Amino acid sequence: MSYKGYSVPASKLKTSYDVIVIGAGIGGLICANFLAKNGYSVLIVEQHYKPGGLCSSFRREGFTFDAGAHLFGGIGNPRSLTGTILSRLDLNLDVIPQNPLDLVHIGNETITIPADSGKYVSVLQDMFPKEAGGIARFFEDLSVINKTKAANPDHDLVKSYEMTTYYRMLGDYFTDENLKAVLSAQWGYLGLPAKKVSALTMCLMLGSYFLDGAFVIRGGSQRLPDQLAEHLLGLGGQILLAHEATHILTDDDRATGVKLKGRQTVKGRCVVSNVDAKQTFLKLLPRTCLKEDFVMNLLGYKESCSMFVTFLGLKGANKLVEGINGWHFESYSDILAQEDFFLLLASTGDSPKGQCALRILVPIFDSGHNWQEEKKAFENGIVSRLEKRCPGLGDKIVYRESASPATYYRYTRNSRGAAYGWALTPEAQGRFRLDNRTPIRNLFLTGHWTKPGTGVASAIHSGFLTAVQIMGKD
Ligand SMILES: Cc1cc2nc3c(=O)[nH]c(=O)nc-3n(C[C@H](O)[C@H](O)[C@H](O)COP(=O)(O)OP(=O)(O)OC[C@H]3O[C@@H](n4cnc5c(N)ncnc54)[C@H](O)[C@@H]3O)c2cc1C
Repeated sequence: MSYKGYSVPASKLKTSYDVIVIGAGIGGLICANFLAKNGYSVLIVEQHYKPGGLCSSFRREGFTFDAGAHLFGGIGNPRSLTGTILSRLDLNLDVIPQNPLDLVHIGNETITIPADSGKYVSVLQDMFPKEAGGIARFFEDLSVINKTKAANPDHDLVKSYEMTTYYRMLGDYFTDENLKAVLSAQWGYLGLPAKKVSALTMCLMLGSYFLDGAFVIRGGSQRLPDQLAEHLLGLGGQILLAHEATHILTDDDRATGVKLKGRQTVKGRCVVSNVDAKQTFLKLLPRTCLKEDFVMNLLGYKESCSMFVTFLGLKGANKLVEGINGWHFESYSDILAQEDFFLLLASTGDSPKGQCALRILVPIFDSGHNWQEEKKAFENGIVSRLEKRCPGLGDKIVYRESASPATYYRYTRNSRGAAYGWALTPEAQGRFRLDNRTPIRNLFLTGHWTKPGTGVASAIHSGFLTAVQIMGKD
């Protein structure tokens, strides 16, 4: 698909806008839509040739692959916060509720996680009868945390787990390490294992999938940013694709516009940054705008992991792929002890007849790789790992390609190819995350580097929140 029709020619830009949004990730697109809907003149500047950032898809030889996000909490549920926000925009997304929610393969065992938390409680109580009471209590509390966290951050339960890791929280309910492992097996959705990830963030992620529903988008994740972009254009907003913002212009500690690569400048009464927070403050802004303690605080945050993703086109393997979707671990103890997962995801997009697309995701925590040199060997290692888990699948491969952290950096400018913004430790979540308002007047943040959190649903909430703050200010 060509995105030329989405982009305003640089020569036709207005000299001034009410709001300029840097980045057409989901946070930027949602924010721009709500501002445009409320009469603001809005321009999004995006360095890539298409919108979506980490929520995009691409096509190769007839296969459609999601590059990043594929599972969306609450997106097809009009009663959820995510669904409510989206319902105010006239989108026409074809979503598929995920039931079962997930498969977890541990050694030769497969645990099916039902979408209904009540049924999951029964599955777990059958597997771990001695922990039946704790399991019921844990899921009750999960629900309480999800229902009260936003409305009442001072609720006892929320407060008591604010500075705790998820693994320590599990210790208040269970003694069986295998049960703790099963309840931690989906840690990859947040990019940090149970012994490091914030308890509240993990509870909110699990809760959103169980309480609000988890959905994939038929045809691929790109449908969401494409529809948001089209909706914005319909409201009179503009998008400038394939143009990088190199500076945020300031005057007397106030953001006044954006300078594009190639020197063109565009004025804006407000600027919203949907891009990497270190890029925003340390590269796009003049350093003199920021107080030293703000910079020191910023440098204290750590990026989340990135991912190495191998995309495979497979011929005659549809049956083989059916049962292997999901999280793969060698043992229960690996889930808690290793900073590693092996996630297989079948594509929901098109494939040539009789063929199917599969991607394999592994997390990358260290930044000391030369991906240009290492990429092929790393990909070979992943395919061997797949062949070990699913003998015979290697012979069915008709197309293969991989994305490394360097690829994710190149396409999104998230530093180190971070998949989830800041690492979701207790110290970097909730009220400790960077605020949507910045110390620079008229400069706002939106997306997964700011409040409320990470992932596409949070980017949707963040975009809405930032738009409301800008409208409230005026
Ligand atoms: C492999 C992978 C799998 C994932 N799976 C899931 C999942 O299943 N579910 C889920 O909810 N989340 C998932 N995530 C996380 C999720 O995709 C992100 O948290 C979310 O999409 C972030 O959205 P955002 O709006 O904050 O910004 P981004 O998607 O990072 O978008 C930022 C945009 O800004 C642009 N940009 C950057 N710098 C500039 C500049 N100087 N000038 C102009 N434009 C610029 C970029 O090109 C990009 O388009 C996954 C991530 C990865 C990598």
